[in-house]
Amino acid sequence: MSVLIRTMGACVAIAEKAGGVLRDVMASGDLGIVDKGGKNNLQTIADRKAQILIVGSLMKQIPQATVIGEEDDCDYSSDEARLMVTTDTDTEVLQHKCPEQWQALKEEDLVIWVDPLDGTKEFTEGRKQDVTVLIGVAAHGQAIGGVIYQPWFNDQGGRTMWGVVGLGAYGFQIQETPVGRHIITTTRSHMQQSVQEAIDSCKPDKVIQIGGSGSKCVLVAEGIADAYLFASPGTKKWDTCAGEAIIHALGGKFTDVFGKSIDYSAGASFPNKTGVLAAMRDHEFYLSKIPANIMER
Ligand code: AMP
Ligand code: MG
Ligand code: MG
Repeated sequence: MSVLIRTMGACVAIAEKAGGVLRDVMASGDLGIVDKGGKNNLQTIADRKAQILIVGSLMKQIPQATVIGEEDDCDYSSDEARLMVTTDTDTEVLQHKCPEQWQALKEEDLVIWVDPLDGTKEFTEGRKQDVTVLIGVAAHGQAIGGVIYQPWFNDQGGRTMWGVVGLGAYGFQIQETPVGRHIITTTRSHMQQSVQEAIDSCKPDKVIQIGGSGSKCVLVAEGIADAYLFASPGTKKWDTCAGEAIIHALGGKFTDVFGKSIDYSAGASFPNKTGVLAAMRDHEFYLSKIPANIMER
């Protein structure tokens, strides 16, 4: 079996287990909120526990890959950390055939970007629908595989979306979107002038403000929103890698607000300094509307 498909099977099982940790912490009522500094930049017990589970499990299952997680100061050697490691895989994912272009990839070619809890601000406010677990797999600087797990999708529990560029994306229904409709999804808790100006320039039919990068990628992939636009620094590579892979797997386009692709190499800087623009179609339309000097204002 190819390394990439084996990695995706592991990532799906690990993301689902991490989602269970988020549900448990929320149910306990003790979130242990810490301010990491900056605007609405929080961490909770759930972020730390899920990071330990995901990164610890990836180190066990895909030991030669480079794993970069948002919460970098965790202890993976404690007894508690060792107990959280899972060697589970998703057997349905393993049924898929690796696209030709990724068949030769080795573990050491992979860079795995982990956001154990995307939408922490919303998590602390009880806005559970905004929260996702994100695991993005990159090779040669490109986002090629992604898992987005929504722990509170509905009353039945969570939902897993996953995709691989060249293979497709699974776990959800895509809605037909009316041609020419422009619904934009953007930040809820990091709004600022450049973001608002870029959105206004596109004259959208509607704006959906929701927390988390993962949740916005879900809206675009499903066809509920037409574009994800955030003309500001703020998101990091672990926020966008999984969603970018899924949107690209579906034939959409995911770039910064100037149309430049995002570099997910191990040595790349974490911040997406020049913002985010993702759309299933009409990416060129949004690009043509965003003022060229938007990030300098
Ligand atoms: P948002 O769209 O505001 O929910 O943000 C999406 C992701 O980017 C979340 O993980 C946020 O924590 C992160 N993010 C966005 N803007 C900022 C910021 N100004 N400072 C820190 N993190 C940010
Ligand atoms: Mg995040
Ligand atoms: Mg996070």
